[in-house]
Amino acid sequence: MKTIYMDHNATTPMRPEVVSAMQPYLGEKFGNPNSIHRYGRETRIAIENARDNAAALIGAAEGDEIFFTSGGTESDNWALRGVISAARGRGHIVTTAIEHEAVLATCQTLEAEGVEVTYVKPNRQGRVSAEDVATAIRPDTKIVSVMWGNNEVGTVQPVHEIGAICREHGILFHTDAVQALGKVEVDVERAGVSLLSATGHKINGPKGTGFLYVKKGTELDPFITGGGQEQKLRSGTENVAGIVAMGEACRLAKTEGPQSAKNIAAMRDRLENEICEHVPDVLVNGDTAHRLPGTSNLGFIGAEGETLLIRLDLEGIAVSTGAACSSGSPEPSHVLLAMDLPQETVQGSLRFSLGYGNSDADIDRLLEVLPEAVGKVREMAPRLKSTKT
Ligand SMILES: *Cc1c(COP(=O)(O)O)cnc(C)c1O
Repeated sequence: MKTIYMDHNATTPMRPEVVSAMQPYLGEKFGNPNSIHRYGRETRIAIENARDNAAALIGAAEGDEIFFTSGGTESDNWALRGVISAARGRGHIVTTAIEHEAVLATCQTLEAEGVEVTYVKPNRQGRVSAEDVATAIRPDTKIVSVMWGNNEVGTVQPVHEIGAICREHGILFHTDAVQALGKVEVDVERAGVSLLSATGHKINGPKGTGFLYVKKGTELDPFITGGGQEQKLRSGTENVAGIVAMGEACRLAKTEGPQSAKNIAAMRDRLENEICEHVPDVLVNGDTAHRLPGTSNLGFIGAEGETLLIRLDLEGIAVSTGAACSSGSPEPSHVLLAMDLPQETVQGSLRFSLGYGNSDADIDRLLEVLPEAVGKVREMAPRLKSTKT
């Protein structure tokens, strides 16, 4: 059976160029980049090259504002904890109700440690307003953390306005740009960002790689202490092969991102339009005017999302009901709930996320099987049938 992958917001396949770039560092180029001899110099050069590619992708002024981490989760943890720790463990954080768990769970832990947090609510399209963020800022606010693009519904947040507000107030602005990177233009200088989280595996790089951008002059404590690598801010011998591969993924995202985003958005629009045409009672979740190119989150009223996902999987099509980490748990999506969507829409929601490797033929195949699958699943769940009049 030909399988079709439409879950790129959960993770992406590594591009062949990325695998090739990585290969030598899994073999003959094994030196510790902190060693003075030639083995070390060779891998040090490779790491610094990757750093420059990461910096270029996000418009960072200096390569040494990039700190390699183990991924998006670590970067989010470090940004928030590092700033609060530098502020002697006290203060107030402004974030949103629709952040990734890496931010939300960290904020909740910090709350238990005495930090206060305001969670700004989005509108029904999953967008927060910059004014609401401004209103939430207090004299003791240390950092504002608002994601660039949402992983579940794809809504792009008004980061430039929020960045300007933070700049005015002299407050640090952190953004989780894991989903936005390589899909929309991300420029930390233009957006007024002080800290930015990124991960390799959402941009066709390897899992377990990521970085945190830290603007020069930002007061940030280390999160992982030890041998003092990464300018004494993130210790541990560097994941050389992973970093090199992520650097290549960043380079490709920079050069090919704008064009591939256009192609992917066109495919996504076709998928969405045709589903809405051929399947009754479908609602589009998210802000179609401000949305990541590959994401379509649809509410199939009266159907059970999880059941539909399993049916599509039997046909070889991989989609998601929301954040990957919450799949398998019966809890409804915190993002859709924060958007105040009715229960029946939340339960019947599926996320299609397109990316590298998808083609129009994939959409054709989905459209062949989806209408019937939705019909069957709706019959199975009569108690969820739309009661709307
Ligand atoms: C995937 C994701 C993360 C977590 O990144 P990992 O590298 O998997 O730890 C964080 N934030 C967002 C928005 C994500 O989509």
